[in-house]
Amino acid sequence: MLSSTTRQITDAGFRRRFHQRSLEHQRPLSTITMAFTVVAYLSFVATRSFVGGPVVALQYRLACGLCLALLVMAIPRTKTTWAFGAIGVAYTLMLQAGIALNVAGLASPLLWTLPAMVMVVMGAAPLWLTPTHFLFGTLVFYATGLPVLLNLPQTHGETLLVCWMWMAISVPSAAVFHFGFYRFRRNHFLLEDRLVELAATDPLTGLQNRRAFKEGAEKQLSSPDDSAKFSAIFVDIDYFKSLNDRFGHAVGDQMLHDVAQVLKAKTGADDNVSRIGGEEFALLRRGGLRSAVEFAETLRVAISGIARPDGALTASFGVAEYRAGEGIMSLLDRADEALLRAKHSGRNRVCAERVAQDDVARLKTLQAPHANANAPSIREPVRQPWDDHYLTSHFQPLYSLSHQKQVGFEALLRGERDDGSMIPPVVLFAPKPFTSESDLDRASHALHLANAARVIPDDAWVFLNILPASFVAEGYADQLAEVARSVGLSPERVVLELLESHGGSVDDLSRAAAQYREHGFLIAVDDFGAGHSNLDRLFQIRPDLVKLDGELIRATSPGAQQPILPKLVSLLHQAGMLVVVEGVETTDELILAVESNVDFAQGYLLGRPAATITPPEPVNRRIDHAFDVIAEGRTHQHAQFESEVQPYRLALDLAAQAYSGGASLDEAFAQLATLELCISCFILDETGRQVGLEVNGMASAKAGDSLQPVADPRDARWDHRPYFRNAVLRPGVAVTSSPYLSLASGRPCIAVTVSVPSEQGRCVVGVELDWSLDRLPWPAADSL
Ligand code: GH3
Ligand code: MG
Ligand code: MG
Repeated sequence: MLSSTTRQITDAGFRRRFHQRSLEHQRPLSTITMAFTVVAYLSFVATRSFVGGPVVALQYRLACGLCLALLVMAIPRTKTTWAFGAIGVAYTLMLQAGIALNVAGLASPLLWTLPAMVMVVMGAAPLWLTPTHFLFGTLVFYATGLPVLLNLPQTHGETLLVCWMWMAISVPSAAVFHFGFYRFRRNHFLLEDRLVELAATDPLTGLQNRRAFKEGAEKQLSSPDDSAKFSAIFVDIDYFKSLNDRFGHAVGDQMLHDVAQVLKAKTGADDNVSRIGGEEFALLRRGGLRSAVEFAETLRVAISGIARPDGALTASFGVAEYRAGEGIMSLLDRADEALLRAKHSGRNRVCAERVAQDDVARLKTLQAPHANANAPSIREPVRQPWDDHYLTSHFQPLYSLSHQKQVGFEALLRGERDDGSMIPPVVLFAPKPFTSESDLDRASHALHLANAARVIPDDAWVFLNILPASFVAEGYADQLAEVARSVGLSPERVVLELLESHGGSVDDLSRAAAQYREHGFLIAVDDFGAGHSNLDRLFQIRPDLVKLDGELIRATSPGAQQPILPKLVSLLHQAGMLVVVEGVETTDELILAVESNVDFAQGYLLGRPAATITPPEPVNRRIDHAFDVIAEGRTHQHAQFESEVQPYRLALDLAAQAYSGGASLDEAFAQLATLELCISCFILDETGRQVGLEVNGMASAKAGDSLQPVADPRDARWDHRPYFRNAVLRPGVAVTSSPYLSLASGRPCIAVTVSVPSEQGRCVVGVELDWSLDRLPWPAADSL
């Protein structure tokens, strides 16, 4: 230990600290020792009065004592080693003078002088702070003491001998005392210094540890300069655990060391850098948020240059700026919160703390792109400065299909440069260090509402997309209502489209939905059918509208080219929700939307997003046309369906008559079973239970056996089926059902049934027809 510390003690800074520490140690010791000398001097003065011979006037000798006392009192106030040494020298001289005054006129002055001369030089030796002080102070003492001694009246030769004895005793003893003490103090100081260093340093990286960082930061932040800006940077290595797990802790340790080296190399003496925990580092540096983010970015790039066995090491950064009066831990908390966002938005990035901006205040920063300060147009769309560009609103119309009119507009965010050129969405929505997704979301609401108030007709809704995180944020319902009202829109005209595919706790969402409803907002669930959406979530949130994911419109039921949209719409209607279908791009999709009883539709076919509102007339004509097509198609479809089913009706009537007349099942169904689409023929009694076994028809051979466990219908009851109920309601008339999934074949089928009298009472005679072929028309009626 000493060899390394001996090297350190040659360092000027280190020596200065050591001398300063020696001063702290010596000050009380010197004060006490010198105070004793003053007492000894005064007793000398008192004793001298009792000894005969001429004597120097008392006031001179007391003046010396007073000077000594003043010098003693100055000792506790000394701040520098230089002042300490100077007091020592002054004290030496004053003491010599005092001794000389007191011994003048004595018969044997040496007797009085010598003990003092020996004791003072030896007693003072350890108190000199440095060897230089010691050598200089002692030299002064001898240099002034020798003349005093030599001038004393002596017998011949005696004085020189005494001087020699004085020197011989005091010089080596004083040197031993001084250097012995000096060495002791120095070793003590080195040890103390080492302990302080160990207590403050992280052994693995050599950086400060958490405690030292906190202490240092508190000192820095308590700087009296109010205008000084500080920022904290929180660094966390990405996927560090996997590094340990896959390659061992030694590799992990090496990476920590490498990161620390980067931090040391990039930071200056004023920066407070530490390893604050496992793979986390913290920095406190002078400067505001922006400069700290830029600095963190250089650190990020430098760290990503470190190779790890499975690629490159990366780290995420959170940055926050110091707010006057706060503590370092609260500053770090904010940096940590930003770090968390950096982690969640993909890692290997820098995120700054959120700078909260009131949304109403944000409205005031909005500006019209071509606004003339003298004549701002109320209809002119406004834009919001954002990073190095502007945010603008585009609106896409939604049409009510039945009313054939525009009923609302979905506001969509666009980025625009100063010259009016558009910013691609990947850039606009890319994670940014200074703003979070939620900041952008809130900013977009204020902007869209301001623009909607300017450009959207008074009787139309504004549809605003909202992230679940913003939706559930404390107090945001009140804020949004205030923003809407402040631009002249009542919340009743605003539909909040909850981006359901972004997740969020369903309890929080439904609680928040109630608050928005209280203000009058309508709630829509967006993208239903994608992401996290499911019916349970939907029924808990209970939106007023459901927007169906564009893909759903193109979805068809497997096995039959029939869309599932109509059924889904009818389910949502039963649950009390209006249905919007998005992504309508072709006339066929529009027709399907109309046919499916969808309430509102949106899509490129009906209008693209634009900064201004397009007139609805051409689109209204398009919707009208879709209605015409459907009406025509329905007539045609009905005729086709009837002609396809007719032979089966006739054959079924014959079979029913035969069965009523007492024929067996096989006899009765002999002809019907030979028809192409016949899967099976069956008889149900008055209660809907099957009578005997069914008779398989031509199409039964194709039937799969995927539903084998339910293939045998002997004990089954079918009175709940529409084909049974409809037949019973219209006795003697052969009725057809809508397509349903046959449990016997696992394929879509329809049933033709007729209720006739039989020997056992009334019964229903029926046939199940395979309706899975593409060429077969589906009935136009929607009822099952
Ligand atoms: P993330 O990207 O989310 O930060 O994931 P991560 O794996 O880096 O974070 P996590 O907090 O899950 O893992 C930190 C790991 O750091 C867990 C611990 O085993 C490891 N660790 C902590 N201190 C040391 C250390 O001194 N040496 C080594 N080798 N590993 C350490
Ligand atoms: Mg961590
Ligand atoms: Mg980590």
